[in-house]
Amino acid sequence: MTSDPSLSGLPKAVLAALTKLGIDSQFDLVLHLPLRYDDETVLHPIAAAPTGAPVTVEGTVVDTDVKYRPRRQLVSRIGDGTGVMGLRFLHFYGSQLRQLAPGTRVRAFGEVRSGLLGPEMIHPRYRVVRGEMPLPRALTPVYPTTAGLGQETLRRLVGRALAAADTADTLPPGLAGRLGLPAFGEAVGLLHHPPPSTARAALDERSHPAWRRVKFDELLAQQLSMRLARERRRAGTAPALVPRGTLTRARVAALPFRLTRAQRRAWRELERDLARPHPMQRLLQGDVGSGKTVVAALAALQCVENGWQVAVMAPTEVLAEQHHHNFARWLAPLGVGVAWLAGGLPRAEKRAAAARVAEGAAKVAVGTHALIQDEVEFDRLALAIVDEQQRFGVHQRLALRMKGGARAGATPHQLMMSATPIPRTMAMSYYADLDVSVIDELPPGRVPVATRLFSAARRDEVVRRVRDACVAGSQAYWVCPLIEEDTGEKPAAPGGRPRRARGRSAAQQMKNVLETHAAISATFPELKVGLLHGRMKSDEKAAVMQAYAAGAIRLLVATTVIEVGVDVPNATLMVIENAERLGLSQLHQLRGRVGRGGEAAACVLLYAEPLSAAARERLKIIYENRDGFEIARHDLRLRGPGELLGARQSGVPMLRFADLEADLDLLDAARGAAGELLRADRAAARRHLERWLGGRHELLKV
Ligand code: ADP
Ligand code: MG
Repeated sequence: MTSDPSLSGLPKAVLAALTKLGIDSQFDLVLHLPLRYDDETVLHPIAAAPTGAPVTVEGTVVDTDVKYRPRRQLVSRIGDGTGVMGLRFLHFYGSQLRQLAPGTRVRAFGEVRSGLLGPEMIHPRYRVVRGEMPLPRALTPVYPTTAGLGQETLRRLVGRALAAADTADTLPPGLAGRLGLPAFGEAVGLLHHPPPSTARAALDERSHPAWRRVKFDELLAQQLSMRLARERRRAGTAPALVPRGTLTRARVAALPFRLTRAQRRAWRELERDLARPHPMQRLLQGDVGSGKTVVAALAALQCVENGWQVAVMAPTEVLAEQHHHNFARWLAPLGVGVAWLAGGLPRAEKRAAAARVAEGAAKVAVGTHALIQDEVEFDRLALAIVDEQQRFGVHQRLALRMKGGARAGATPHQLMMSATPIPRTMAMSYYADLDVSVIDELPPGRVPVATRLFSAARRDEVVRRVRDACVAGSQAYWVCPLIEEDTGEKPAAPGGRPRRARGRSAAQQMKNVLETHAAISATFPELKVGLLHGRMKSDEKAAVMQAYAAGAIRLLVATTVIEVGVDVPNATLMVIENAERLGLSQLHQLRGRVGRGGEAAACVLLYAEPLSAAARERLKIIYENRDGFEIARHDLRLRGPGELLGARQSGVPMLRFADLEADLDLLDAARGAAGELLRADRAAARRHLERWLGGRHELLKV
């Protein structure tokens, strides 16, 4: 259960509770910092005890009785010469009646309210005072805890750990001082036992220098581990894919559009990276519709020009199928074979595709997770492209890179794409070991999508309008949110934070999409209405998407399977039901499916009332903003980096203390210090990493 021998003397139940809190070592206890503090350092006269915050009073019991109205309860009254205070207990033991016998001296800590018969405390913490009992000299820490582990026990354990653990400074002398930060041991000592003179607001807001020291150390550990990962990668070898231009130039010339300036810049960065004999690890970021796919295709061609193979992996079958379609369309005329590998393929077809990949007949393999299954082996893999990378876990991305295993000693280059723009602070922090290219410009002629909000009460009206628009020649999506098995993101709970839907609610939403499809088809028989959801067979899905792309289907009723990457430029209208349940980035992604063809486009968000405050805020943000980076910043603020990175499974250790928005200056300082340590004092860097990450940092960010 625990690996640290210093904890091993503890009772099993305590150890189990500690494990639940993520505490495995003495040092974890040192870093188990208080949620807040109680001030028990001052004794207040009863008559002058302030209300609104818990205080300590002390007095002699006047009387103690069990009362039966309005319900059974124990009421004890204590007096200190200035006044009388009631202590009221709704749950109590019989023994308390004796313990609080008249004449007993009692010290009570709680919030004072004015009761019917004067001031009182409900369920105060109290102690019988015998002889001298000095007041605590520091604020009392209140720790995050779990069932079965009381504050008293935790305080004792933390106190012991503080005394026993090594809290010596890991930073070279002078560094902390230069940054205006206290020594580490001093900082954690203060946070656990702040003297009463400590500025309370600075403690509560975590802006106190002691807090800033802990946050700085955390950020420094993160930066160091990322830098080391990057160094390791740069020391590795990869096939040098020099730009020959034999295929890429022809491809660019045949495009029906000119690449945007931002696309050309990103492409140049890729071109240069791929030519190096070290594995590239680059994230290609760009808002929905900015045209990442064609840039990825050019990278693929540069790889093929050099006689190597490319894998292109996408998180949903619908998106992978679309990539396959595009890559085949773009590459086949150049004589480049493209294979298709998805989970839903008949066995024989899958085996045949895998064989073409293994023999090297197919230079490019496009697919879903099926690409990383055992039976798929590449002949000469030199580039792994992962679209919507935040949907994949670190192990899946790694598995894809390992597919080049046939050629020992070389690691394929990796290109990751993401349409969930990552705010600068987050990229600096979590992606410090990646190189990032940004396509910060949309192709010309895009018309901003008009966003409308409608209460679900007006659903019939919306249905009619969509019908009219489709009859008049438009193409529309009607989205019924459904939790997909193959995506990482879950719709947000009405109360705010996303939650995992249980089977039943998934079934309910499934019913919703089927019923909506049936109802709209029945009401408007003149309209060709299609249906798309994650549980359909692969070829059915592909057929529906093709019919929709070709315009044969005018209205597509779909689950959120269309959320990522789907590109049908003719579609100009989208309705999203239960929009109040979706997260910001999901709404932004969905909305980005329309407005791609240069014609005016609209997105209708239907919401069910009553709206929670959080849902109202999300809808307001999506209504007012269309820049993905702006929306991502809001998303980071509302949900935190864990959700935004898409995966708790991403392998990136989440920050516990530092806040990327509030502590930007510390992040900058930590970046600087990380560089300095790795140049000048690697021993200090190692000590610091060892303290913060233990053995764990070897696993980070593969
Ligand atoms: P995303 O970045 O969201 O993955 P896509 O790669 O799917 O975007 O591209 C969106 C659409 O824009 C596609 O239809 C694509 O063909 C088109 N497109 C890409 N680049 C350009 C460009 N430079 N000019 C015009 N259209 C473009
Ligand atoms: Mg895309």
